Amino acid sequence: MGGPFLWPADEPWPVCTVPHDRTTGYRPADVRRERAILAEAWGREAPQGLTDAERAELASLVPGPYAPHLGERDPIPLVALAQLFTRDVPALVGPDGCDLLQVLWCPAEAHGPRGNAFDVVLQWRRSADVRDVLHDRPEPVVIGRAHGLPNECVLHPEQVAEHEHIQHLDDELQEAVEEWEESLEEAADDATDGTAAPASYATYEEYEAAMRAAEQSADAVVTYTGDLSIAPGWKVGGFASWHLTGPTPVVCSSCGTPMRLLLTATDREWDAGSQSWVPVEDRELVRVKGANAPTGVSPARGTMSVFTCTTDPRHLHETVFQ
Ligand SMILES: [Zn+2]
Ligand SMILES: [Zn+2]
Repeated sequence: MGGPFLWPADEPWPVCTVPHDRTTGYRPADVRRERAILAEAWGREAPQGLTDAERAELASLVPGPYAPHLGERDPIPLVALAQLFTRDVPALVGPDGCDLLQVLWCPAEAHGPRGNAFDVVLQWRRSADVRDVLHDRPEPVVIGRAHGLPNECVLHPEQVAEHEHIQHLDDELQEAVEEWEESLEEAADDATDGTAAPASYATYEEYEAAMRAAEQSADAVVTYTGDLSIAPGWKVGGFASWHLTGPTPVVCSSCGTPMRLLLTATDREWDAGSQSWVPVEDRELVRVKGANAPTGVSPARGTMSVFTCTTDPRHLHETVFQ
């Protein structure tokens, strides 16, 4: 994520020419510096919090009119978001023998029918065709929204089984799932009753420990939606989460075919409340600030789903923000 990209040196880097303001925003170097300062402060044992010097430096890393020379149609380079090789991601199948998907976006939330979305470009290629690699990839002078700039990091893809959104299950199955969830909740309530909390505690520490245990047992109740059906985090394939609107059909604007979810980009890999999707190797980081947001990006409303046509991969993709 966030580059470097396997991009041919003799191929033009994609640019945005859609009219919108490109004069004002964050400088990429400032965004990176801000993240480095916060990561340092959050990772420190003691003293907790920011030092005065860090606070002063953060206050200087503000958005501003850093590119006054740019007109609203001047081409600006897109940001390298992610590149995925089919060898690493079994669900990823490219057209015409392509084995590499490169995803770029314009980090100004000024696109789409409502003028409030990132604009995504998908570039498929055969990695073996790239001989001379572009070394200095261009970057925009300003980033419209700081969360449009990904941290350079490496993905560790893992295959998981998902199940359709609950509203897509037939009525009988939906009822069965609800009954099953109720039975789990009752069992959890019974277990808590068995170890009935005393009316008072001898010490504050005992009270705190009891509260923590109660919180953990509430977290441990599994739900279909939170724990089993749709995985949070970046992913290829699977099902879209539709957590804001509920499921909505996405059809190809060129041919009317129902589209398939290709890629989900999201602001966090897991929620603190629902931990069953946390990778085993990250379990001990669950409560560490920022550990669930390694990529640094946050599309509008948190999640961007990119859908592609199943009939013809050259048909324009659709993006949905939830
Ligand atoms: Zn743009
Ligand atoms: Zn189509």
